[in-house]
Amino acid sequence: MLRSVLLYLSEQKGLQEFILRRRLARRVSRRFVAGETLDEAIQVTRDLNARGMDVTLDHLGESVEREDQAGKATDDYIAILERISRGKVRAGISIKLTQIGLAIDHDLCRRNLRRVAEAARDYGNFVRIDMEASQYVQPTLDLFYELNREFKNLGAVIQSYLRRSEGDIRELAARGASVRLCKGAYKEPPELAFQKKKEVDASYVQLLEILMESESPLAVATHDSRMIGAAKRLVRDHSNREAPVEFQMLYGVRRDLQARLVEEGYRVRVYVPYGTQWYPYFMRRMAERPANLLFVLRALKGK
Ligand SMILES: Cc1cc2nc3c(=O)[nH]c(=O)nc-3n(C[C@H](O)[C@H](O)[C@H](O)COP(=O)(O)OP(=O)(O)OC[C@H]3O[C@@H](n4cnc5c(N)ncnc54)[C@H](O)[C@@H]3O)c2cc1C
Repeated sequence: MLRSVLLYLSEQKGLQEFILRRRLARRVSRRFVAGETLDEAIQVTRDLNARGMDVTLDHLGESVEREDQAGKATDDYIAILERISRGKVRAGISIKLTQIGLAIDHDLCRRNLRRVAEAARDYGNFVRIDMEASQYVQPTLDLFYELNREFKNLGAVIQSYLRRSEGDIRELAARGASVRLCKGAYKEPPELAFQKKKEVDASYVQLLEILMESESPLAVATHDSRMIGAAKRLVRDHSNREAPVEFQMLYGVRRDLQARLVEEGYRVRVYVPYGTQWYPYFMRRMAERPANLLFVLRALKGK
């Protein structure tokens, strides 16, 4: 119930504008968002690198409605790739296709994604295509398959809450494509998505098993100790597997677990979001764990 309310609020543009203007809200958001500028995000990246973790940078913003905005977001991502290279930090990028025009026009989005993929290839870097709400899943995978033929430095994301995901995972695994597996962060109807945590988790483990049988580079994106335990067991059982496996977690979430995995010798990558458009991202993090609201309320009280 609370999750649904928070996810609903995450989509309210009026509330977003109100909250983004609040300095205190900005400060509170820093728990999960690296800052509003690329400089701040690079500094956070350096700190994480120094603690043995790689990073994927997300320039926050989604669902742009105009071609010029999509072009600007594309230019911004290319500038991030240049900055990562110049700053010699260990980071790739994560990108949402609606940010570079998917909701406007498929061809526009393809052109923009190609520009980002080319720049990343020139810098020897990698682009992870985040997965968004269900209406974008097929268009996102279509573009991924099309461009992945030419650009091996692209990776996909699959959400275990979607009923269709087993088919998608088999397709990606057959192609040896790089996959990040997550549970899924959006509100989806029962026809499309498992609603119970138990079902979403069972699907996650099943998809992990399929991926581990393949030669797809795999990113296990979760903070759930049980999913992480299952992944570690599968890594042990598939010790001959050559494709890399890494754990991925969100900036500010389960920092203890992130550090422990590094100590145990696993590769860990932290998803570091930054930018002025942090509201929907921040609200999705609240929805995932309403106990985070207590953290926000405590910060507000401390003011
Ligand atoms: C690197 C990364 C990339 C992602 N990319 C995408 C994407 O492209 N598309 C998409 O739909 N979703 C994405 N997600 C979000 C994901 O789908 C889930 O919504 C989110 O990770 C919560 O699920 P969980 O696996 O951590 O398990 P859950 O069952 O939600 O949580 C398990 C435990 O993890 C801890 N935890 C989880 N979330 C939080 C939080 N916000 N704050 C504090 N503790 C928490 C709690 O201890 C909780 O009990 C991504 C997640 C990660 C880690």
